[in-house]
Amino acid sequence: MTEGLSNEEIACMRAAGRVAALILKKLKKCVRPGVTTKYIEESFDNYLKEYPEMESAFKGFMGYPASLCVSINDEVIHGIPSEERTIKEGDLVSIDLGIKYKGLFVDTAYTYIAGRAQPPAKKLLKASLKALYEGIKKAKPQATTGDVGSAVQSFIEKQGFAVVRKFVGHGIGRALHQHPEVPNFGTPGKGDELSDGMAIAIEPMVTAGNYDVEVAKDGWTAKTRDGSLSAHFEHTVAITKKGPVILTRI
Ligand code: MG
Repeated sequence: MTEGLSNEEIACMRAAGRVAALILKKLKKCVRPGVTTKYIEESFDNYLKEYPEMESAFKGFMGYPASLCVSINDEVIHGIPSEERTIKEGDLVSIDLGIKYKGLFVDTAYTYIAGRAQPPAKKLLKASLKALYEGIKKAKPQATTGDVGSAVQSFIEKQGFAVVRKFVGHGIGRALHQHPEVPNFGTPGKGDELSDGMAIAIEPMVTAGNYDVEVAKDGWTAKTRDGSLSAHFEHTVAITKKGPVILTRI
């Protein structure tokens, strides 16, 4: 078993998490009709330059070609920024970013609306964000990944939405993706036990229709198979004796 993160390591992740949250908030202003998803990536790169010790955790990860992911509407995750992709009025724009700092990693995501959204889309975002916090509440020592997943799933399904099965949250810290897997579904008491000094990325990926997703021809972009809208929110959370500590907040 891997040794838990030290307080110093968690402090480094907190520092990186604060920057990730600050930049993610700044990127909200970049999400508007008429801009390209490449522009979002360039803005991220420019903001991150202000922190010379920090770098994108995604660029080059498993061969990923960009510094962050921008996924629109039926795209759930892993959308590759492009000059060819222009954001339109009412689009749901999910931005997922990770930062590496002193050999440690944080990961966070938020779904924004470009301009004005339709009420069903607003309901989807509100439920997905709330589900993230329902999951976080369960992230304590001796709890299990099933407790977290079950909290997310039951909240989402009560709202009439679905959680993606094919992609899951994950342990994080000395690597971007590490043990354990943290699904957004599950059974209380099942799965892997959480312990003090662990950090996990909890990331509800929610769809307005069926949860089934397929990967596009680019080899990355995961989209809902039925074309339904989706949302994605994520925090990196430290498991501590005092309870869950959200590292990716301002
Ligand atoms: Mg993640």
